[in-house]
Amino acid sequence: MENTPPIPDPHTHLLRHAPDAPVLYFSPERLQATARAFRHGFPGLVTYAVKANPGEEVLANLARAGITAFDVASPAEMRAVRAVAPDAALHYNNPVRSPAEVAVAAEMGVRSFSVDCLHELDKLTGHVVDGSEISVRLALPVVGAAYDFGEKFGVGPDRAAELLRAVVARGFTPSMTFHPGTQCADPNAWGSYIAAAAGVARSAGVRLHRLNVGGGFASHRTGAAPDLGAIFAHIGSRVAQHFGADTPELVCEPGRAMVAEAFSMAVRVKALRDSGAIFVNDGVYGGLTEIRDIGAPDRIDVIAPDGTARRGTPRPRVVFGPTCDSIDRLPASLPLPDDLAEGDYLLIHGMGAYTRSLSTDFNGYGLRDVVTVARL
Ligand SMILES: *Cc1c(COP(=O)(O)O)cnc(C)c1O
Repeated sequence: MENTPPIPDPHTHLLRHAPDAPVLYFSPERLQATARAFRHGFPGLVTYAVKANPGEEVLANLARAGITAFDVASPAEMRAVRAVAPDAALHYNNPVRSPAEVAVAAEMGVRSFSVDCLHELDKLTGHVVDGSEISVRLALPVVGAAYDFGEKFGVGPDRAAELLRAVVARGFTPSMTFHPGTQCADPNAWGSYIAAAAGVARSAGVRLHRLNVGGGFASHRTGAAPDLGAIFAHIGSRVAQHFGADTPELVCEPGRAMVAEAFSMAVRVKALRDSGAIFVNDGVYGGLTEIRDIGAPDRIDVIAPDGTARRGTPRPRVVFGPTCDSIDRLPASLPLPDDLAEGDYLLIHGMGAYTRSLSTDFNGYGLRDVVTVARL
């Protein structure tokens, strides 16, 4: 194998280097395996939503694993992709863009956009390549997702049909898209959108070139790992059922589920209080931001500085982050061993998504260190 990583696993790194700042451990092999599982399992084109983790080594390894298209939301994300994958297709699916952003997209050769109102279509018309793919973004009331994206983006079925006709009238290639939310455990999050999208296309009298079913695929945070194969099968069968002979090509744009398992994160216990509360070196202003919004993961190993595992009885502990802000505390206590001590590490698995991309350097802290390992 080229570039064999010098560090075999996170335990070895913790023991050798005793890092005092939070660390993300990255397994390129795991990331490539996930990308291949998506490519083989999903019945269509697999793209990657860059916002989940825009790290250069993430984008490069996805390109190496055969990902040829990326969902980008800003000029900076376009440049990040172009830097490692100059020939990749860019799907600019943030439906709100300034004229200056549209100009950058045109210059970078973007030929796939989404819109959710006529005004955004006007902003593209005459400013992007003729015949570009324009996907109308559909919004429905939320089902089974951790947050509701439909409140901010998307258009209801009736106006979506009008917009789809306008896309065709202007000579663009008509497609549709939706994004069911994030960390969606219920396959119906996709099923009801697919049914509604088929209805919109029928009532507009437009045959869709592609249907982009968004991201939202759940990662393994607690309990058993989600069954992505079941969701892929559900998507495939719902599309066949609702579109029949007019079945469009499918596209998906996972962020979280593509990258989560490829990283584990180590944080260190800086202080243990008599109450049992702990202070750790990362918190809600760093890589643990999402815990506030979608709950804590439960795949946590507690490791003493000599590398041994703490196996004491779990007890609920309040967890404070390192900054001087009282908000910097996890919203619920975490069950952690009763023999935990100052200087221990919490190695949290499945932390590749929305950790470094959301980390700030407030108060001089933040998640900056990424160490490549052979396995997690
Ligand atoms: C955020 C986002 C994604 C990725 O969502 P995940 O939940 O990380 O899979 C995909 N598509 C769009 C349009 C998004 O905004």
